[in-house]
Amino acid sequence: MIWNLEFHAGFVKLKTVSAGPANTMGMKVLLADEYGFCFGVERAVEMVEESVQKGETVRTLGPLIHNEQEMKRLATEGVATISEPVQITRDETAVIRAHGVTPEVQKALEEQAGKVVDATCPFVTRVQRLASRAAAQDRHVVIVGSADHPEMIGVKGYAPDHAFIIKDETEVASLPRLRNPMVVSQTTIKAKTFFDTAEAVKTKTDDEVEVINTICSATRDRQDAARALSGMVDAFYIIGATHSSNSVKLHAVCKENCERSFLIETEDDINPDDLAGVKTVGVTAGASTPEWLIKRVVERLKSLGADEEKNMGLK
Ligand code: SF4
Repeated sequence: MIWNLEFHAGFVKLKTVSAGPANTMGMKVLLADEYGFCFGVERAVEMVEESVQKGETVRTLGPLIHNEQEMKRLATEGVATISEPVQITRDETAVIRAHGVTPEVQKALEEQAGKVVDATCPFVTRVQRLASRAAAQDRHVVIVGSADHPEMIGVKGYAPDHAFIIKDETEVASLPRLRNPMVVSQTTIKAKTFFDTAEAVKTKTDDEVEVINTICSATRDRQDAARALSGMVDAFYIIGATHSSNSVKLHAVCKENCERSFLIETEDDINPDDLAGVKTVGVTAGASTPEWLIKRVVERLKSLGADEEKNMGLK
């Protein structure tokens, strides 16, 4: 058996697996070009780990990431989740997760906690700053995204009296007349939704509309890589939580070209019967799926597959 899979974030390496059931002999495993932790999530987890290593008692405001297994692992290191700033104490470190929070919540944490670690993703910080700047200029801000998403709640907090959150162009009609509007986006929405909405916003003002695309490419890159790979495999495993929207979308993208696409949370969810006759199996993972979990899935496939090694060089 040859096992030489390289797990570099954002790299695709096709590799093989060890001997297994006869119907999967010769099976190859390909990882998508982009998979797993995005920059912002990886950074947030690293910041938490750093605090833990310093011996701090770490409390994250809301779950750090949408992955139960990683949350359980962090719990074994003493990391717990709080839902309100009042729950933090002076001898604890509060962590603001990648989604960010409103300035009020940040202030409350700073007043309550011994220390605050701000793991807001820099891409989200940029949207917060843009909203804040527009509000300071007394301009309206239209944010395209989901009003109940934590990232959007945080961004609106930077321009509470000037910002409107709408999910798409169908909600533009609900907006009042706008003053020198700026249009920005939730970092994870589709580009088409954003630009269609921004175009429609022009009907709500006589002023020039400043459109600033603040979509982060992480989601799109993972979807593009999964789509590219889905046409080359007989089965596809998408590792991620069933309540993680980016994992669910990734699954839908894979299904377009590969009917045998499965959204799994762990290696235990792999049903060997699904691999009957499969020669090539693709693997990708949502932005909240840790590398160690991806490795376990590949190890499981390794126990079911064949012994050929090949590097597709997709990247
Ligand atoms: Fe940051 Fe993009 Fe990851 Fe969101 S998806 S945390 S914006 S890198």
